[in-house]
Amino acid sequence: MDEKLKTRVKALIGDDAKIIEGDFERELYSRDIGEVPFAKRLFHTIPELVIQPKSVDALKKIVQFANEEKVALFPRGSVSSGLGGVVPTVKGIVLDLAFMNKIVELNREKETIKVQTSVRWSEIENFLKTENLSLRAYPSSFFSTVGGWIATGGYGIGSYRFGHLKYQIESLEIMFPSGEVKTIHSEEEAFARFFGTEGQFGLVLTATLKLREKQKKSLPHLVYLESAEDAFNFIRSMIKEELKPNHIKYMDAAHLREVNTFLGEDLFRLKDAVLVEFEEDDEETRFLGFAQSRGSLAEDYLSNYIWHERLFPMKRRGGKPTPLACELLIPLENAVPYLKVVKRITERCWMKIHVESHIVGKDKALLMLTHLCDVREPKAYLVHMSLIPVLTRLGIKFGAVPYGVGIWNVPFIKDKCEKARLKIYKAYKKEVDPRNILNPHKFFAVKTKMANILGITFKPPLFRILIHLATLTTPIFGKLTNPSEEFKDESVLETAVYSCIKCGSCAAVCPAYLVTSEEAVIPKNKLYLAKKLLEGEEIAKKDSDKVFLCTHCGMCREVCQNDLELVAAWTELEEMLEDRSGRPEGAIRDFVLTMESSEEYWRFVYA
Ligand SMILES: Cc1cc2nc3c(=O)[nH]c(=O)nc-3n(C[C@H](O)[C@H](O)[C@H](O)COP(=O)(O)OP(=O)(O)OC[C@H]3O[C@@H](n4cnc5c(N)ncnc54)[C@H](O)[C@@H]3O)c2cc1C
Ligand code: SF4
Ligand code: SF4
Repeated sequence: MDEKLKTRVKALIGDDAKIIEGDFERELYSRDIGEVPFAKRLFHTIPELVIQPKSVDALKKIVQFANEEKVALFPRGSVSSGLGGVVPTVKGIVLDLAFMNKIVELNREKETIKVQTSVRWSEIENFLKTENLSLRAYPSSFFSTVGGWIATGGYGIGSYRFGHLKYQIESLEIMFPSGEVKTIHSEEEAFARFFGTEGQFGLVLTATLKLREKQKKSLPHLVYLESAEDAFNFIRSMIKEELKPNHIKYMDAAHLREVNTFLGEDLFRLKDAVLVEFEEDDEETRFLGFAQSRGSLAEDYLSNYIWHERLFPMKRRGGKPTPLACELLIPLENAVPYLKVVKRITERCWMKIHVESHIVGKDKALLMLTHLCDVREPKAYLVHMSLIPVLTRLGIKFGAVPYGVGIWNVPFIKDKCEKARLKIYKAYKKEVDPRNILNPHKFFAVKTKMANILGITFKPPLFRILIHLATLTTPIFGKLTNPSEEFKDESVLETAVYSCIKCGSCAAVCPAYLVTSEEAVIPKNKLYLAKKLLEGEEIAKKDSDKVFLCTHCGMCREVCQNDLELVAAWTELEEMLEDRSGRPEGAIRDFVLTMESSEEYWRFVYA
């Protein structure tokens, strides 16, 4: 985008959008939760402009302008995805849709709710508290946006009972790259195309969700079993017996060991386990009869605790701080044979994998394999990272498909979408986005910097060779780079900086972000700034001053996915900055005044 184009787009939208141009602020829009050290070398991850439109009209003008001028657009929600789907690949504009955060209409009679794309699942459930209604299913990233979950996964808590997200939506309002807005109903053929296609065809503006009567009771139970095989047999028998839980989740002994480490006590037994939630007393009674002869039931307080933890699946449980994850949808009967091979390979490669799995239907499991390492130990990190596609490839041999695509799973796109569906997607992309402006160079195919020289490694034939190489070499390199087990003596701020998994939950509750809509005041971004400072980089005063726009209310601490000591970290960071360049007293005063006069802030406080 040259300067002329930038000037034109600014003139076009005037005050109806906020434009973000600062170097540091744009850099904040170049990341997602995945930690891929070489991403910046392959792609133009830093956008040229970030635009926060304030109305649908402004959004339409930007989209039409981008379409006419062939400027790439990268829409984003709360950035809790991690495969690069939200990260820019080429020069262009990031569309920050934060303003589209209104609940449009509740229809009590039909039990539906219409919401704008950036409304978070937590906000809907909070709104419904007094309405005797609830969501049917939601992602364990409860603070992510409706549009984001439509565009990515669609399987989460409650999927066992209610199925994929597409069955819980009545209609979507979509803005196409031409600027045209259409309502697409669930009966229409095109409807399903917007789920899991990561914003390739159009921008989700609103969704009308089907609700359910408020859940009267939550009756969770954790059952210990002797092995993964026993656990999956238990699950299959439950399904056969037609027991009716809302949700079923498998977790392995390694996962429960981490929970114990986190709690500092050996509360959970180190066994594989199945977690279920019922809401009817008679169904619970039937289940207890069924479970008692097959496994061993955990105490109620432990079952309740681990059920609550469903919303914190990425909590660092005391090991290394950086998670590497592989997510696959696998036929239920193949989960155990696959996990057996995974165990053999990862042990050879010095990786400690732990496994969780949502059961998302009578015959399907969403497996999540996680390995904790430390991005500050680059050799070990890179070696272990190279094993993630190996585990994905292996899963495919067991009939699995990768869950998301983004950038990093592009080599598997033909495995994820069967031939006929991919053909339909490609034809539809050509029809609705012929200039390829929406989230280009990901999902279907990748194009890297420098005339796509490295893009060739994303082509399936070469990629397969690289995977074979990684399978052969990782055990050797894994041993050579075997990371230290030593405990690092860190300050509270350092721990927070390196343990933040960038899930973004904190943004949803931060009053400073609510009133300023400044990306730089979001806790995870303050930690990013702190990381740069700790690593000796210079930060302009205008950027570091934003750290002080904070009430120390501790809301971020309450929801932190990783239970980080955030308020203490803010004090440490502010002291560090105060020593360097003083406190920006004027900016702090203005911030307090803005808060006090903000209706939204007071609504938030009372809520
Ligand atoms: C702790 C944790 C738990 C998680 N649990 C689950 C889970 O249970 N199930 C699950 O499926 N995933 C889960 N995820 C992954 C992630 O949270 C989901 O994919 C999430 O719903 C994405 O929403 P988001 O608002 O963060 O979207 P983003 O990450 O911001 O965006 C994701 C994709 O959607 C596109 N997009 C965003 N908004 C729009 C729009 N309005 N129109 C078109 N395209 C758009 C973006 O371009 C990008 O490609 C989890 C992640 C974390 C960190
Ligand atoms: S303590 Fe500061 S960063 Fe955390 S939620 Fe409150 S205002 Fe936001
Ligand atoms: S600070 Fe906590 S809640 Fe915020 S992004 Fe990091 S891990 Fe998530």
